[in-house]
Amino acid sequence: MPLETTTPRRRVHIIGGGPVGLMLTALLQTMGDYSIHLYEKRTDYTRTRMVKLDTYLVADSVESYCIDYIDEENVQAVFDRTDLEEGVASRQTIAPDLRALLLEWTLGFCPLNTIERALSDLIDRRGTHSVERITGVVSAEDALTMAGPDDILIDCTGSRSLLRDHISPAFGGEGGQANVFKVRLEYALVITFLYSQTYACNESCKYYKNAENHTYKFIPAVHRTFYDQGVSHVTGIVNITEDEFNSMPTRVDSGWMRENFHGVTASMDRFIDQIKGETGGEIIGELEIVRIPLDLYHARNVSSRKWHALGSAADHPFVNSQAFLAGDSAIGSPYFQSISLGFECAMFLAGLIGQQDLELREKFDRYENFMYKQWLRVYMRSKMIKHNKDLFETLDDTLALLQKLHIY
Ligand SMILES: Cc1cc2nc3c(=O)[nH]c(=O)nc-3n(C[C@H](O)[C@H](O)[C@H](O)COP(=O)(O)OP(=O)(O)OC[C@H]3O[C@@H](n4cnc5c(N)ncnc54)[C@H](O)[C@@H]3O)c2cc1C
Repeated sequence: MPLETTTPRRRVHIIGGGPVGLMLTALLQTMGDYSIHLYEKRTDYTRTRMVKLDTYLVADSVESYCIDYIDEENVQAVFDRTDLEEGVASRQTIAPDLRALLLEWTLGFCPLNTIERALSDLIDRRGTHSVERITGVVSAEDALTMAGPDDILIDCTGSRSLLRDHISPAFGGEGGQANVFKVRLEYALVITFLYSQTYACNESCKYYKNAENHTYKFIPAVHRTFYDQGVSHVTGIVNITEDEFNSMPTRVDSGWMRENFHGVTASMDRFIDQIKGETGGEIIGELEIVRIPLDLYHARNVSSRKWHALGSAADHPFVNSQAFLAGDSAIGSPYFQSISLGFECAMFLAGLIGQQDLELREKFDRYENFMYKQWLRVYMRSKMIKHNKDLFETLDDTLALLQKLHIY
C-alpha cells in the first residue's frame, strides 16, 4: 500500500489581535489550508470608542467604491479600472458570515470592542481548529525567531508597530533611518456624545451651529447609531494648540474641561444648545473627551521584499520567510478613515496569500504597489479635509482666510 503523503499546512503568524489582525484571521480561516497562530497581549476587548466603517468595504460596483466627491477623483487618478474591478469582485468571495458582519458595521457607528468581540467569536464559532490563540506580549526578537522558512508573518500590532523597523534591511540596526513617513496634521480633542433625536449635519449646519464660536469650533461627523433607531451618535473634532495638548491628560470629563478649558466648554455648550433648539432633544449620558495628535503616516516598506531579494547574501530570518505590515502598522490616518483602510488592506493581503501559484516576488510587488496606492489615496483625502477644516475655521475672517490660500 502506498504511503499517504500530506502537505504540511502553511504556518501564518498574525501578531496583534486588534480589528485588523482578527479580520485577517477570519479571512484566511476559510480560504485554504493554513495553520494560523494569532498572538494578542490583551485578555479582553475593552475599547469602547465608537468607530464607523466606510461603505466601500462592501461595495458591489466600482462607482460605489468611492466614499464621496473628494475621494472619487483621487481613486480614479491612482487606481487602474481593472484593479478596482478585481477589488470589488473579491468582496463577493468573502464568507457569508463575515460579510454579514461587515454589512452591519457599515450602517453606522459601532463600539470598537463590539467589532473585535464579534470577529473573535466568529473565529471560535467556526470551529475549524486551524487557529491557535496565544496570549502575551510578543517582542521583535520573538517574532524574528518564530519565522521559520516559508512561514508567513503579519504584523498587525497597530500604530507602534513591532516590526516596522525590522521588515527591511535599510532600516534595521543602530542608526538606521526609520521606515516611516509621518505628517502631524493637528492636535485635537475628539468629543463624543449621544443625542436623543435623529440629527444630521451637513457643512452649512457645521458652520451655523458654530457661528458664535470664534475659537474651538466643534466640527462633527454625524451618523445615526445602527443599533438604536432615533439615537444620534455625534463625534467631532476640536482643534487645539500643541501647548494645550501637552497640558491636559489623555482622557478628561466635562467637569475637568469646564474648570480647565472654559473656552472649549463654552463652544460645545453653544453648539449643543443650537441642536436642542432645532430638534428639542437631550444629551444622553456624559460627553467623552479624548485628546489625540492627528497623524498621517505610512511605512515606506510594508513587506520583507528587500530581505528576500538579498537571498543568501544576508543572514536574516526574513530572507526565507515572508513578512508583511497590515492595518495601523502600515498606514495610519485621522478623520475616521483608519479601520476601513486596515480592513481593505487585510482583504487584499488575504487574497494575495490565497493565490498559492503566484511567485513570491510578484506577491511582494503587488502588496507594496497596492499599499502605496492606498497611501496616496488617503494622503490626498486627508490633506484635503485638513485644508477644508483650516479654511472653515477662518471663514469669517477674510484676511486670515486669504493667508491660508495659495493659488499658483
Ligand atoms: C480616540 C480614537 C478614535 C478613533 N476613531 C476612529 C473612527 O471613528 N474610525 C476609524 O476608522 N478609526 C478610528 N480610530 C483608529 C482605529 O481605532 C485604528 O485605526 C484601529 O484600531 C487600527 O486597528 P489595528 O488592528 O491595525 O491596530 P490596533 O487596534 O492598534 O490593534 C493592535 C493590536 O495588537 C496588540 N499588540 C500590540 N503590540 C503587541 C505585541 N507586542 N504583542 C502582542 N500583541 C500586541 C494590541 O493589544 C492590539 O490588540 C480611532 C482611534 C482613536 C485613538
